[in-house]
Amino acid sequence: MKNGTGDLALFGGSPAFLQNRRVGRPNQGDRERFLERMTRVLDNEWLSNMGPLMYEFETRVAELAGVRHCVSLCNATVALQMLVGDTATGGEPGDEVIIPALTFPATAHAVRWRGLRPVVCDVDPATGLIDPDLVEALITPRTRAVIGVHLWGQACDVRRLEKITESNGLRLYFDAAPALGCTYGSTPIGGLGHAEVFSFHATKVVNSFEGGAIVTDDDALAERMRAVRNFGFGQDGLVEEVGTNGKLNEAAAAMGLTSLDALEDTIAHNRANYETYRAALSGIPGVRPVEYDERHRNSHHYMMITVDRAAAGLHRDLLLDVLRAENILAQPYFPQAMHQLAPYAADSPGPLPHAESLCEQLLALPTGPGVSAADVGIISDVVRATVAHGQEVTGLWHARPAETAATR
Ligand SMILES: *Cc1c(COP(=O)(O)O)cnc(C)c1O
Repeated sequence: MKNGTGDLALFGGSPAFLQNRRVGRPNQGDRERFLERMTRVLDNEWLSNMGPLMYEFETRVAELAGVRHCVSLCNATVALQMLVGDTATGGEPGDEVIIPALTFPATAHAVRWRGLRPVVCDVDPATGLIDPDLVEALITPRTRAVIGVHLWGQACDVRRLEKITESNGLRLYFDAAPALGCTYGSTPIGGLGHAEVFSFHATKVVNSFEGGAIVTDDDALAERMRAVRNFGFGQDGLVEEVGTNGKLNEAAAAMGLTSLDALEDTIAHNRANYETYRAALSGIPGVRPVEYDERHRNSHHYMMITVDRAAAGLHRDLLLDVLRAENILAQPYFPQAMHQLAPYAADSPGPLPHAESLCEQLLALPTGPGVSAADVGIISDVVRATVAHGQEVTGLWHARPAETAATR
């Protein structure tokens, strides 16, 4: 229990944890099952190129997402690049794709990588999700597509985005990288818009070391994507179009399957952590968990809070320093909005106040299988004690000797 500022590790106290509590610790599942699968892979001597485990993984993901097709890929960034470059998007260089300001940089990069222009749209201040009202105002004759991002597993306002894109003849894609196992109402995320993209990066709720997928009910799109991921080879073995190498290898599929086996347990554990955090953080001035719309199911893989400097008495970044000194490795998600990133700043639409303010305030707290209810209690106590002395912590931090600052 931390009573005064002297108990905080940042100011010389002993850390709350001897071992790090992290955001995005990998969900590896049962090690024996993974090793069994790896033995099969090695015995088969079929390490990549559309192997049996890759197909098994695709079938399982498609079932979970409630879609006809899962095209597994080496990561979600390549998946987004493939969708943006698809013939149905039909973009000429400089054509526009509307994306939210609050997302991981890959969403913007995928658009620019294919020679199109990411047009950055501000977000809803409560959810951080792309704001359909603002999307409409950004549509020009050059707009080809809208990419919604189901941030932290929250479903976008899908129906409104569908209406807007349909009436303007645009493609609608979802970057669902953080949203496997989540739903839009009773519909699993995966079957929304023309296609959705999952990530199975090591830090995601299901991990395949690195991996991704395009999921869709569109047969022709799935066939095109299967060709593009494999150098453009068509069914007859001849190259029909410009392709890339986007294949998911068998070791990745083995981990993906094993991690997927544990998904329901992981979600249940995360959900319990979320409830514990909500109770334990309640009433701390200026600290608020991001509220999820209960009509949709969330995997609670991300425990997001906002820190309002005026009410808490300290800035999010200082709370982050306090937590890190305690070996609580929280993360600012995301520290910059898309129009603030160096490659896109020159093309910035001007201030996007909701996204910018969220980027200043958001913090992801540790959760996942390695974080117990007791850990959540300790982490929440540190946050409470720090905010209770918010002004004092701010004063001490600014008054610290210069050499201390230089060594941190
Ligand atoms: C993780 C993430 C990505 C990138 O996924 P990779 O598989 O690492 O390429 C893209 N978009 C969002 C919103 C993400 O959270």
